[in-house]
Amino acid sequence: MRDGVTSILAIEDDADIRQLLRALLDREGYTVTEATNGRDGLRIFHQARPDLVILDVGLPDLDGWQVLERIRDMSDAPVLVLTARSSEQDKVRGLNAGADDYLTKPFSRVELLARLQAIRRRQVANTTPRAMFDDGSVQVDFAHQQVSVGGQSVLLTPTEYRLLSALVRHAGQILSADQLIELAWDDPSGLAPARVKYAVLRLRRKLDWDDPDESPLETVRGFGYRYRAAR
Ligand code: CA
Repeated sequence: MRDGVTSILAIEDDADIRQLLRALLDREGYTVTEATNGRDGLRIFHQARPDLVILDVGLPDLDGWQVLERIRDMSDAPVLVLTARSSEQDKVRGLNAGADDYLTKPFSRVELLARLQAIRRRQVANTTPRAMFDDGSVQVDFAHQQVSVGGQSVLLTPTEYRLLSALVRHAGQILSADQLIELAWDDPSGLAPARVKYAVLRLRRKLDWDDPDESPLETVRGFGYRYRAAR
């Protein structure tokens, strides 16, 4: 079975970058189509249904965020966002808006290929349900709903267990309080985001993760929570 991505649509108004992308991706065996603005990009996306989109944020008509929103209305195809700015805000915005990854210009061939590899790996991981999460520090046995940290078995409440499971299944990604409510509570209707905050505090205390610099369970102010992927 192929792992999915063979055709790529590059939406980028800068001719030099388009040419660079085409040269790099051709050499790796991808089929590349190009669009120079957001409207053409969406039209081609609709017709060609590429496996992956590389999307520049700074486009002349629709900006990249608008294009991303419309792509997300139609499809789950992975989107790699190209951004000229390296601010954390921009990255977070891209990931919250449904981008799968981002790359800051100027980028190297190695960086581009690494991001594409990472997206492909995540796709494969997402379609194969994992029975176990284990990053060397935290082990979650999804089949038996058992958690151990540093080799010690930990007893969690069902909500704490689902909260931790959701976070480790999305290790490295920021999940908003609303997303966590959907993922971890039996009856999410009407729950306030503060519930997540307190559940996270309790979970941290139970797992001895209180130190904010050391805690694998990170609060990303204004956006949500993230389980730091172990290095
Ligand atoms: Ca541009």
